[in-house]
This record gives sequence, C-alpha cells and structure tokens, in this order.
Amino acid sequence: MLNSKTLTSDEFKKRHGYLVDGIWYPRVTSIVDIKSKPALYYFYAAAENFTDAQNKKRKAAYEGTIVHEILEAIVRGKEIIVPPEFIGFKKGFESFLKNYSLITRAEWIEKRIKHSNYRYSGTFDILAEVNGVFSLIDIKTAAEIYDDYRLQTAAYYYALNEEPVLIDNSKKIVLPKLIEKRFILRLNQIQVCELCGAKKIIRRMGDKIKGGEDFCQHQFGEIIEEWEFKEFDNPEEDFKGFLACKELWEWEHREKLKEIGYL
Ligand SMILES: [Zn+2]
Repeated sequence: MLNSKTLTSDEFKKRHGYLVDGIWYPRVTSIVDIKSKPALYYFYAAAENFTDAQNKKRKAAYEGTIVHEILEAIVRGKEIIVPPEFIGFKKGFESFLKNYSLITRAEWIEKRIKHSNYRYSGTFDILAEVNGVFSLIDIKTAAEIYDDYRLQTAAYYYALNEEPVLIDNSKKIVLPKLIEKRFILRLNQIQVCELCGAKKIIRRMGDKIKGGEDFCQHQFGEIIEEWEFKEFDNPEEDFKGFLACKELWEWEHREKLKEIGYL
C-alpha cells in the first residue's frame, strides 16, 4: 500500500474519495482495501516481481472496465461490436439474461451513492428488478466469488436504503423503492480440456487452470462462457464488517483525514 503521508491533501482526496455536493466522502473500494486478502498473496507470490504484479493488476482492471462497458451496452439495448477476446463475457451475460428476468433503466447503471450518516460514497454497478425483486448487482470477473465482496455490496446496500437517491453529476435520481436483495454476477471466459476436464479460466492478468489431471497434456476446446449468480444473505452482519474496515481505515489515514477535516 502506498503511504498516504507522501500525498498532498488534494491527491489523497482524489485517490480515496469523491466530492458529493461539495462534501468529500471516502470511497467504499478504498475502505475495503484495508482488509488483507489472502488470495492476493498467492497472486503476488506467483508473479515474477512487483512490476510484473502491478502490470497484471492493471490488465485486470482494464478487463473489468471492458466487461462493464459490454454489459452496460447490452442492458441499454445498444448495438455493440465485441472484440473476439471478450466474446465469452457477452455470451455469459446473454445466457444469464435467458435464465433471469432483469428489468433495469439507463439511470440505474453505475451511479454514485453516499451514506450521509456513516459518511462514505461509492459507485455501484447495476440496480434492477431481478425476477420481480428490486436488487443490487455487482459484476465480477474473478475466478470465484470471494466473501470480501460482501463488505462492498453491504456498504452500497445500506447507503441506498438510507438515502434512495442516485447522484448523476448534479442530477439526482430518486429510487422508487428500497433494495431488497444483493447479488454478485460473476462472469468468466473458459476453455475445458477435452482429455481430463481441467478448466482454464482466461484472464488478461494470466490464465488460471482449475481441476483436471496434473500430468495431462491439456487439449483445450473453444472459448465458452461461464457465469454464476449468487445472492448474499445477512446484510447486517456484512455491514458490521464494513464499518470495522472503515474504523481501521480511518486509523491508518488519521493524519491526512484530520488535515482535510474529515476527522
Ligand atoms: Zn487435460
């Protein structure tokens, strides 16, 4: 983690938060970053060096951005040309839409929200009626659904239900009702070994092979989609976890936060 002490106040504010109606709020993704993520240690251990790891992270972030753009276009009903290396994501989302009824609006996609009481802000992915239930959906392209996603989605869920207002630049969008459920839609592009059934998850940050036989000379088939849609229960418990992260995050950055008048 970069030392926040070397940043100017303005740099710190920009890196870690958003201005909403002239008030600065720390960002949910920055806050949950304070929690150590065991999966990331394996990632760093597998990387050749720190620069290699940083490059892989940048590529993963790029992939995430592309996937969000593809999904946004599909949801908005826009025609898009998806590059062949991302076609599995498009197929996965289309397959998901065949299995679930999803009704959304352009103004419910990637909007900023804030929790005035607990003073944080963030940007969610999609709000939609999922099989008739008003829900928050976060989209991930990770190899699995990590428990850590609970913290982030609980923060959005509580912000939306405290103040059901979305912020679109200076415009405000009032939600018709409260959010009932939260989900993760995980999308991946995979290839399956025709000999042993090993699954190769195709990722720009480096492919990952799961299952199968260790000594197989894998023969991977065509790129296919893989998707998983999971509901997170127990928002109260996860929100407590998020607030604990926030407490620790505020301690870590206490000097800067005092300097900018947040603490
Ligand atoms: Zn194989």
